[in-house]
Amino acid sequence: MNLIDTHCHLNIQPLLDRAGEVLETAEQQGISKLVVIGIDIPTSEIAIQLAEKYPQVYAAVGIHPNDCAKAPDNWENHILDMLEHPRAVAVGETGLDYYWDDTPPDLQKIFFRDHLDLALATGKPAIIHNRDADQDVMQQVLEHGNTKGVFHCWPAGWNIAKPLLDKGYHISFTGTVTFKKNEAVQDVAARMPLDRLMLETDSPFLTPVPHRGKRPNEPMYLPHIAKKIAALREISVEDIAKTTTRNAKLFFNIES
Ligand SMILES: [Zn+2]
Repeated sequence: MNLIDTHCHLNIQPLLDRAGEVLETAEQQGISKLVVIGIDIPTSEIAIQLAEKYPQVYAAVGIHPNDCAKAPDNWENHILDMLEHPRAVAVGETGLDYYWDDTPPDLQKIFFRDHLDLALATGKPAIIHNRDADQDVMQQVLEHGNTKGVFHCWPAGWNIAKPLLDKGYHISFTGTVTFKKNEAVQDVAARMPLDRLMLETDSPFLTPVPHRGKRPNEPMYLPHIAKKIAALREISVEDIAKTTTRNAKLFFNIES
């Protein structure tokens, strides 16, 4: 099996100190490439350093909605500089998070819009986080001219997914799709167009079944997510692997 983990945080602890070992165990499970996602300026810089050090790693750079309030005034220049790096393949993660109250919603919305502007200007896709903010995320995305992005860790039902897919966006699934009683998310995984679907672990968070509860989550558990989606769609896991890997290469514009 050849899989791409399109969203993981090897740039934060406890994974950062063991990054080499984490990548090795991932490779043994068929994870051939990984995209490491920044949540603020320092972790975006570390994502790029990891991409320089390890040939299978690519970086995304941005300010997570929970980290906007701490960002320096000139954050946008920093991110734009980093986006010029050839291994910085995406903008994010950005989005809206109304679960935690680290950042006022109005400030999150400004940062989200600015990230979508950066994606549109650079042609690199946006990586979007949505927690308890379905309506506002949908409204901002549908109003914006950017059409290239992925909703990471998809949290909602088909009524939210449909207009975003129609706009051109991708959807990626974490271990939450393996959780019991997550029917709305599983329904989206089962019926959405396969050519827009990607896989991710969001390590070190959200360990999939059958390892749920174990911490930290690691990229090596990605095959459990592929298997679950294959079962939901009643196709082989090889087909899921082949298609999602091709989708990720095209989406991030990374070589085969
Ligand atoms: Zn993340």
